[in-house]
Amino acid sequence: MQHFPIFVALAGRRVVLSGGGEAALAKLRLLLKTEARLTVISANPAPDILAWESAGRLSVLRRAMQPGDADGAVLFYAADEDAAEDARTSALARADGALTNIVDNLDDSQFITPAIVDRDPVTVAIGTEGAAPVLARQIKADLEERLPSGLGRLARIGKGFRKMADALPMGRRRRDFWSDFYLGAGPRALSAGEDQVRDTLDALLDRYMSAADRPGHVAFVGAGPGDPELLTLKARKALDSADVVIHDRLISPEILELARREALMIDAGKEGFGPSMSQSDIDALIVEHARAGAQVVRLKSGDPTVFGRLDEEIDACTAAGVTWHIVPGITAASASVAAIGQSLTRRERNASVRFLTGHDMKGFADHDWKALARSGEVAAIYMGKKAARFIQGRLLMHGADPATAVTVIENASRPDQKIIAATLSTLPADLAAADMNGPALTLYGLAPRAAQTVLSQIDRQEFA
Ligand code: SAH
Repeated sequence: MQHFPIFVALAGRRVVLSGGGEAALAKLRLLLKTEARLTVISANPAPDILAWESAGRLSVLRRAMQPGDADGAVLFYAADEDAAEDARTSALARADGALTNIVDNLDDSQFITPAIVDRDPVTVAIGTEGAAPVLARQIKADLEERLPSGLGRLARIGKGFRKMADALPMGRRRRDFWSDFYLGAGPRALSAGEDQVRDTLDALLDRYMSAADRPGHVAFVGAGPGDPELLTLKARKALDSADVVIHDRLISPEILELARREALMIDAGKEGFGPSMSQSDIDALIVEHARAGAQVVRLKSGDPTVFGRLDEEIDACTAAGVTWHIVPGITAASASVAAIGQSLTRRERNASVRFLTGHDMKGFADHDWKALARSGEVAAIYMGKKAARFIQGRLLMHGADPATAVTVIENASRPDQKIIAATLSTLPADLAAADMNGPALTLYGLAPRAAQTVLSQIDRQEFA
């Protein structure tokens, strides 16, 4: 981050701008939204500037800038649209102690003005370090659309009510009160008028003053395969309001970033292999925090109900009298077939699909292998990398076709996703050559669609 975003107090303080043309006007329109004392320095100010002057909204010095003109100013804008003059005026302003900006000159500016979404007093500042103004404008447009225009009014009324709400104990109860106001009761009341909003605040405060603290609760939340955009809205909401997040090691940092800033983040470090917290330690940890009154999010990769030892954690909650619920997520198998453009099931190929773990396959009975070895079968094998040679051996022994497609997808849905298209006969060698370190899913009986298309073209050529 080369520029650190801050909000500068401008009420009653001086801001000076040198320039009287288009660039000056653009900046002034923005600055006139503040309560700053504005001075414009220009020998030839545009008519709008003169109109603002006669309306008493700013003062104008009709000449070129001189030393001392920016005395006591917090901010200075060089907006003469002339490189030499801008360099001169900004040097003068710096000498006067103001922080300076030269319009359209990132390198020589001490600060830059972000794109602003204005729902005063709610203000969103968007910066791209000058790299992509188009992007900043797009984000601004998106946000403008997303933030209801009544938000500013709501925030202003809420601000006036802050002192009263301070009667609520700090922490969860006060936070719940405000989120109830801004996200629920407030917007509803606003449609009936501002008086209604004030009444609603009074009623809401009464309710929260007498309410008992919310008891602790555990949400078992699926974080999906890694791409933050594959989180469900419910998962996002749970992360937004969590006091404690207990997560697996597979959860990507981008997703952990989404948790409420004050939330306690605990890495339970469970991975198929390698060091990990024991399951009973994790169970105890979940229960301990929920019992202390926390809203706990137990964040699991993919879908929490798939190879996640979820039942042990639920049993621990039930035994301790802690309430819980499950928020499903996108499992690795879904992300992996999507990555190769295939369906998990297909008419006349396979009407069923097996979800297996590489670990448990060692305990497979002969009839399981026989069933899987039939042509057209599809299986999604989790944690199957280390078991590849074993799986290959058993399937071949039970008559599987050595040319059966097997695709391994590493880091499905993540930027470093890798796809290895193999066959049953080449699987162990192809895996060894690929040298994968990330989580990987093996899709038995499926080839990437592109490869298949290419293959069938070759077939057709051969038959032609
Ligand atoms: N509950 C998870 C699975 C947990 S078991 C889910 O529903 O996806 C962990 C295994 O899931 C890993 O060993 C790997 O086989 C698979 N896995 C998890 N995330 C993955 C990803 N992004 N890409 C490929 N496989 C993944």
